[in-house]
Amino acid sequence: MRVAFFGVGGKVGSVLVPALTAAGHEVVDARSGALDGCVAAIDFTRPDAVEENVQRCLDAHIPVVIGTTGFDTNTLDSRAREAGVACFHAPNFSYGAVLMMQLAEEAARVFPRSEIVELHNEAKRDAPSGTAKATAARMGTEPAIHSVRLPGLVAHQEVIFGGPGETLTIRHDTTSREAFVPGVLLALERLSELPPGLTVGLEALR
Ligand code: NAP
Repeated sequence: MRVAFFGVGGKVGSVLVPALTAAGHEVVDARSGALDGCVAAIDFTRPDAVEENVQRCLDAHIPVVIGTTGFDTNTLDSRAREAGVACFHAPNFSYGAVLMMQLAEEAARVFPRSEIVELHNEAKRDAPSGTAKATAARMGTEPAIHSVRLPGLVAHQEVIFGGPGETLTIRHDTTSREAFVPGVLLALERLSELPPGLTVGLEALR
């Protein structure tokens, strides 16, 4: 399909654009070009740019896959409903991270005390990460979240549980941004089946 991509030159965009092309999609740079003929859009930009980019798509009635984190999902949901357009956002498009969140939710039923340590590249603008906030929300135990920003890191998270005489650590490491490719391709494939408004999380696509 013809896909408008916001953020083609970014760290994620520079991995996703060749992968989308290899999967048979035609990718156009949404920043410099018109959205004409595009049947879907993807945004991996920055928290202060994503809402305007998505609004352009809503105005053009083009559904959007949103990877950017750190924006107000409630506002976007109501705008997408009003426009009658489907939007999909995953705080993390890697399957391993989705499993980590599921396991953390399960462990939280046994261990009420836990803390989250999320570690990302120094260029990441939002903290805590969208994945850490989503994990905490699923656990329902309000764990403290510690954010580390250093060069050399990609995206990593530990959920550490403590109980009398034992600890349990669930850790996920993204070592390359290729980890996001299968999840983004899946979201793109399923976008046309989603209802108007914002659908959140890869687990909603099963
Ligand atoms: P990045 O390397 O900073 O790339 C962002 C790109 O967006 C840059 O090329 C930037 O261009 C471009 N951009 C900025 N404003 C734009 C606009 N208005 N329209 C079009 N393009 C614009 O960041 P990244 O590491 O690729 O990450 C991008 C976003 O995705 C971040 O919010 C990050 O947290 C998130 N992320 C999400 C996942 C997930 O699984 N959900 C995974 C990884 C990252 P200029 O530099 O020229 O401004």
